[in-house]
Formats: sequence, structure tokens, C-alpha cells
Amino acid sequence: MRVISTRGGLDGPRVSLSEALSEGLAPDGGLYVPEELPLADSARVEQAGDAARNPDPVASLAEVAEVVLEPFFRGDPLADALPELCREAFSFPAPMQELAAPMREPRDEGEEASGMLELFHGPTAAFKDYAARFLAAALERIPAKGERHVLVATSGDTGSAVAAAFHGRPRVRVTVLYPEEGVSPRQAHLLGCFSGNVQSFRVQGSFDECQRMVKVALGDPALRTRHGLTSANSISLGRLLPQMAYYVHAALRRGDVPSFIIPSGNFGNALACLWAREVGYPIGDVFLATNRNRALVEWLETGKVESRESVRTPANAMDVGVPSNLERLRFRHPEPGPLRDGSGTRSGARLEAGSVTDQEIRAALAGAPKRWGVTVCPHTACALHHLGRLRDGGDHRTWIVVATAHPAKFPEVVEPEVGHAVELPPALAELLERPARAQEMEVGKGTLARVLG
Ligand SMILES: *Cc1c(COP(=O)(O)O)cnc(C)c1O
Repeated sequence: MRVISTRGGLDGPRVSLSEALSEGLAPDGGLYVPEELPLADSARVEQAGDAARNPDPVASLAEVAEVVLEPFFRGDPLADALPELCREAFSFPAPMQELAAPMREPRDEGEEASGMLELFHGPTAAFKDYAARFLAAALERIPAKGERHVLVATSGDTGSAVAAAFHGRPRVRVTVLYPEEGVSPRQAHLLGCFSGNVQSFRVQGSFDECQRMVKVALGDPALRTRHGLTSANSISLGRLLPQMAYYVHAALRRGDVPSFIIPSGNFGNALACLWAREVGYPIGDVFLATNRNRALVEWLETGKVESRESVRTPANAMDVGVPSNLERLRFRHPEPGPLRDGSGTRSGARLEAGSVTDQEIRAALAGAPKRWGVTVCPHTACALHHLGRLRDGGDHRTWIVVATAHPAKFPEVVEPEVGHAVELPPALAELLERPARAQEMEVGKGTLARVLG
């Protein structure tokens, strides 16, 4: 498979997937996308189904990942390493919980099913662990001239997933920038607890300012070459493609073409689901649940994207003004109508979206234990809000809600709503016991360049 840029399009240069992973962002400022999505024929879907039925939940996920990703890596220098990359990245399970029946009249058995796909069993308890680990494992195997230097601007979860994934690997350094005021104390600790080849900076500014500083550095060719700079934000194809695996795994294990409700911010996670559906795996409708940052909802309704600053909400990992990955979707689907009504997708399945107010997030957090039998993070609460609304309106589709992070990552928001402390998963507890430190950084054009030396 060859890769092109959303800006150069079919007339622009083609690169290998390895090159795209190595570069992060295309030189013309666009995002890398497959020249053509490699379709999965029925034999491949069947092969993925066999892998999904492997009773070992972890091996099964890694095997599905390998089957799903193989066509994307065909002809690439990394092709032979793919099984190893999948085993390294998909080394913890993605279990599905049945969600309790909705509070209304019982229906015929089997008529309505709701599940929750837990993607938070990795080292930093968020779905980003999977793809961050995949990218780290891949970059380690792609030859580079000298040391690589990964720059990450984070509003919370990306930075710690990337730091954990690259920590201790040879020939790579990581620099994380986060807004001092924008992250929770627990998130700040997770960002600062990796020493060695990982360096963290608390920036006296907003997330948007952190991101601008990283973009300025990455856009400076001399600086880029001198330090081997690259990015590990979700603009990297290496952060996007691996995410297809858990949707395919979940769908094939259920076997009834489930639909997904996906908490969305920068729109990397949900786009992976749409790509998995588009190449031919049995995934039904996809519903994007956003917080008050509702650019995705607006685009789907109107086809317009207005440049906007992000607003702060209790689901802070989705506080994104303009989702970067929308550029990838619009590259193939300039108009939203055919996605909305299904006429523009291979299977006829649809794309839907809805935003959630801060108050609705809190209500969904508080109501989740009773109504659905689960305690969730504020992002997952956005998805549960819409599941509740759909069920109340008589929707009978099989819905899988995607749980993007463990609730213990956001105690300030979750605990007041559920009325008790949320127990830490062991991986998180271990990281929180380590000492943490971050250096201060002021917003400014040259500051990051000076720090890089
Ligand atoms: C990053 C993140 C999201 C948003 O995912 P996108 O791929 O940016 O849409 C949602 N929930 C949590 C917990 C996250 O960390």
C-alpha cells in the first residue's frame, strides 16, 4: 500500500507506510492517508473471525490486529515485523461488558443488546496505549540517521500514553508539553513520572499554545533535521491504523454487525472504526459523541467546519476546537450527506453524531451505575448519554459503547457524581507511586528550540 497526503492528493508524492510513520506529518502540512483503502475479501474476514474466536483474549486481539493490518503493510519494509509489532502493542485485553437492560418494559429476548468495550486496561488506562505502543515498536524498527526526538503536545491522555510507550527504548527521546492549568493533578503526575529518555514541560499557557509550539518546531526544516524531530500525536498514521483492530475484534466476537457509539475529540479513534467498516468488516452504524466542542456534529449537519478555540469541559481529553482527523474524512467524503444516510458507504451503514453538555455529562456519570451497571469516565459518559437517549426513543440496534479511559483517571469529576472513591487499577497505582517532575516552560516562539539545544 502507498500513502499520500490529504493536501497533495492523488497528484502529490506517494510514500511507503514506513516513511509516513517516520515523518508523522506530510511535508506539505497535510495528513497521510492510504492511496486506496485495501479491501478485506471474505476469506480475510473469515480469517479475522477465526482469530477473534481464539479463547485467549490477548492473543486473540493481537492475531486480529495482524490480519486486519496485513494488507496495509503489504510491500512495506515493516511487513515481516508486523506480527511482532501486534504482539507488542496488543498485549492487554479489550473486554466487553454487557450493559444492563434499559429501564422500561422488557422486550423479547435477544431483541436489544448493549455492550461496553473497555479499552483502558493498558499502562496508562486509556485507549491511546494500544496505538502509542504500536507506533513506538514500529519506529524502533525503522532505520534513522541518528536519535529520533518525538514531540508531543497533550491535553492529558496522549502525553502519558506516548511517554509510557517510548520510555526506555533505545535511540529515541520524548518531549511532552502540557498546559499547566489544563490537566488534572493525576494526569500531571502521569505526565511527569517517566524519567530517562522522557522529558515533561508544564507550559504556562493553553493546549492550543502547546500545540502551536510543537507545530512551529516540526515546521522548521533545519531544527527538524538537526534533532530528528517527529510527532506522535494522532495525526500520525501509526496512531490511527492499529485502532481498527479492537473494533473488528469486538464486532466479530459478537457476530451481529454491532453499531458503535464513540466518544470523540480529535476524531482518531472513531475514524479507525469507519476505516475498518469501509474495508469490509461487519460494523454497523457509527455514532460520534462529542462534548460541547461540537465541530464534528456541525460538519455532519452542515458540511462546514469553522475554526474555533476549544472550550473546557469535564471530558477534557475531547476538548478539541477543530478535530485534525476530520481532514482525513473530508478528503474521501467532501460532503457529509452520503455518510449520514449511508448512500456513500460500501455497506450502507450510517454516520451519526451528537454533542453532550457539561450537565448531561455529570448526569450520565451519576446515573450510569444504576441504569447500566457500570462506573465510567467523563468521556465514556458522553457515549452513555446518547445510548440512553436512543434507547428511550425506541432504538433497537445493537450498540457497543466505547469506554476510552478508566474512571480512576478523573477522580475530581467522577467521584462527586458517583459518591464514592473509584479504585485505581494496579498499573495506574504503580505509576502514581513513582516520583514525578516537570519543568516549567513559557509560551514563546523560540522556547522549544532553545530547550532542544
Ligand atoms: C483522546 C481521548 C478521547 C478522544 O479520542 P479522539 O481519537 O481524539 O477522538 C476520548 N476519550 C479519552 C479518554 C481520550 O483520552
